[in-house]
Amino acid sequence: MKKLTVVVPCYNEEKALPFFIEEMSVQSKNIQYEIEYLFVNDGSKDKTFNVLLDLKQKYNHMDIHIINFSRNFGKEAGMLAGLKNSTGDLVVIMDADMQDPPFLLPKMIELVENNDVDSVATYRVTRKGEPPIRSFFARKFYSIINKISEIDIVDGSRDYRLMTRRMVDAILEMSEYHRFSKGIFVWVGFSTKYLEYENVERVAGETKWSFWKLLMYAIEGIVAFTTVPLRISTFVGLFMSMVTLAYMVFVFIKALLFGDPVAGYPSMMVIILFLGGAQLLSLGILGEYLSKTYMEVKKRPHYIIKDRY
Ligand code: UDP
Ligand code: MG
Repeated sequence: MKKLTVVVPCYNEEKALPFFIEEMSVQSKNIQYEIEYLFVNDGSKDKTFNVLLDLKQKYNHMDIHIINFSRNFGKEAGMLAGLKNSTGDLVVIMDADMQDPPFLLPKMIELVENNDVDSVATYRVTRKGEPPIRSFFARKFYSIINKISEIDIVDGSRDYRLMTRRMVDAILEMSEYHRFSKGIFVWVGFSTKYLEYENVERVAGETKWSFWKLLMYAIEGIVAFTTVPLRISTFVGLFMSMVTLAYMVFVFIKALLFGDPVAGYPSMMVIILFLGGAQLLSLGILGEYLSKTYMEVKKRPHYIIKDRY
């Protein structure tokens, strides 16, 4: 029989996990695969780990594995650990909070088997229950990254994705430290079928994403997949130099024709402040790339595993 690996990154999910496992034990009856569950406990501060151990006992007919990180390394690290340790012919990544509806899974498997695609991904069609300002920035993020990078990410796409072994292996070949999976899934290619679904609210617990964290993640995504911002600062610099040159000629001629009464404090301030801002912005952009390069060359591990069960 073929095998399916279900990868579930968990951070403070003590309340959601019982629902998730119960639902999976029901859904798995519609799946003609041997199922291996890989729960990655990402340094949870609540009882997630104990809950997982209890559930492993309670559902002892299910093949449940637990990977315990030494601290919180983030969802990206959790997903990577899951993919690395998966042994299935198919691998699916799911959130523990049931926002990635388990009932879609049988359909996803069917699509991979019949459709010659290597991956079935999901995206939510509505952003109901999300603050409007967050939706606005999320949309902007997708339109910007799709415009300036070579990848095309579907707006609203989730990490909920079923993949064949060869696609997982391709993803594992990308060993970068700063991982932006939404981009990596697209970058590796392979044909993907997208399924849409209505946004589901979390079954229990809270989202771990503050607005600030999302913004950082968005910048990470852009820096990881395109160097266009660097080029933009080059062009802004170039443009500014040309304008300044023209202005210099203007000031020179004006001084020749009308003399040079000391005036022009406001225009000077505006120019100085504007140029100062533009310079800092360019430095900041440069810094983003430099800091990423710095982290990459250190070649630190993505995560540390404390123990396994
Ligand atoms: N998660 C994780 N490590 C983290 C943050 C989140 O493993 O540092 C897991 C979390 O337990 C959940 C999934 O990633 O299974 C998605 O997190 P969340 O529901 O908070 O994100 P949202 O669905 O709101 O985008
Ligand atoms: Mg969630």
